[in-house]
Amino acid sequence: MNILVINSGSSSVKYQVLDMADGTVLSGGRLERIGEPESRLTHHWRDAAGARQEITRRDPVPDHAHAFERIATVMRESGSAGQFALDGIGHRVVHGGERFRAPTRIDREVVEALRAISALAPLHNPPNLTGIEVCLRLFPQVPQVAVFDTAFHQTMPVHAFRYAVPESWYRGHQVRRYGFHGTSHAYVARQAAVHLQRPLESLRLITLHLGNGASAAAIEAGRCVDTSMGFTPLEGLMMGTRCGDIDPAILFHLNRETGIDLEDLDYQLNQESGLKGICGVNDMREAQRLAAAGDERARLAIDMYCYRIRKYIGAYYAVLGRLDALVFTAGIGENSPPIRKQSCAGLDRFGIRIDEARNVQACTEVIEIQAEDAAVRVLVVPTNEELEIAHQTRACLMVRA
Ligand code: ADP
Repeated sequence: MNILVINSGSSSVKYQVLDMADGTVLSGGRLERIGEPESRLTHHWRDAAGARQEITRRDPVPDHAHAFERIATVMRESGSAGQFALDGIGHRVVHGGERFRAPTRIDREVVEALRAISALAPLHNPPNLTGIEVCLRLFPQVPQVAVFDTAFHQTMPVHAFRYAVPESWYRGHQVRRYGFHGTSHAYVARQAAVHLQRPLESLRLITLHLGNGASAAAIEAGRCVDTSMGFTPLEGLMMGTRCGDIDPAILFHLNRETGIDLEDLDYQLNQESGLKGICGVNDMREAQRLAAAGDERARLAIDMYCYRIRKYIGAYYAVLGRLDALVFTAGIGENSPPIRKQSCAGLDRFGIRIDEARNVQACTEVIEIQAEDAAVRVLVVPTNEELEIAHQTRACLMVRA
């Protein structure tokens, strides 16, 4: 069974075709800077001998409809389209609101329902929806499934997902915590269970997805019971450019003092805060380079980043009552031993202790980094959101078949 996974963002489309027999990537690529004078399409595939081939095209691509046509053309021209038939298409959709608790086969009614909840994620859902509509037109014969970033977190109990604000905000405007990065948290939790050779149902886990965006999840028996992102991906951990938790009264204060408007505040909290707000760069590797060269602001940014992670580990330990494993994933979680070490510092009494030598191993598959006698296993698990979307798409199509 071959599944095409599509992640259609505001100015880019990422895609992969996976052979579900063994999870092999048959072809894939990304088209970036849609709508700009020079868009860039990088497409890769395996040739008849199994060797990896790659091409890059730079031409203007005005919109998503042209983007998908361009991708279909390059697949045809490279010969990678002829090698396989598509059995399904899985679309990443950022926000599923309260209605979409699981991967969902797409039909007209679902498209309308997605349109209705687009206001919950105005930057993300509209391009996701555009991708769906274009693919329904281009591949009318292929069954398509929406896989939601929020769905995994829909198991949170009401006391975890409600905000202590007037009830009318929730009833009338869907204001509640939703959580994001759900496909990644779900994937690494399952991989952790496989690695530990324990049923997921028997495990209590804290998963830390530390990429440009960052979030933590408390997972009991495979079900999310709390997560750090909220109504939007702004809440929770400190991120590359997002602030994470702050006192909302800061906004009123700034508005009164400076007259700054809502749009500008939105921009500053999403694009100019986090690591970037503290030390001027949003990329962790860059922040680490600056800190190593003696930059005090970069040192502070990293200290704040790790301190916030440690606070969430403590909070979710209390939520779970017992912890079997702590799981690091995504760009920073998978690749930065110093961040893992600093985030776990001082947690010995909780049974969390990292072994220096194990922590610096390269991570191409699941590794364990806890000290020999530590009570809590600490794992580094490479995430694979495309594979998880493909799995969920296949599962959804099999149920319907
Ligand atoms: P996205 O959320 O865009 O998918 P990634 O999961 O790729 O992001 O994570 C990007 C982050 O990972 C960047 O801050 C980058 O600096 C960081 N990163 C990647 N490799 C390393 C590394 N070796 N050490 C520290 N940080 C790293």
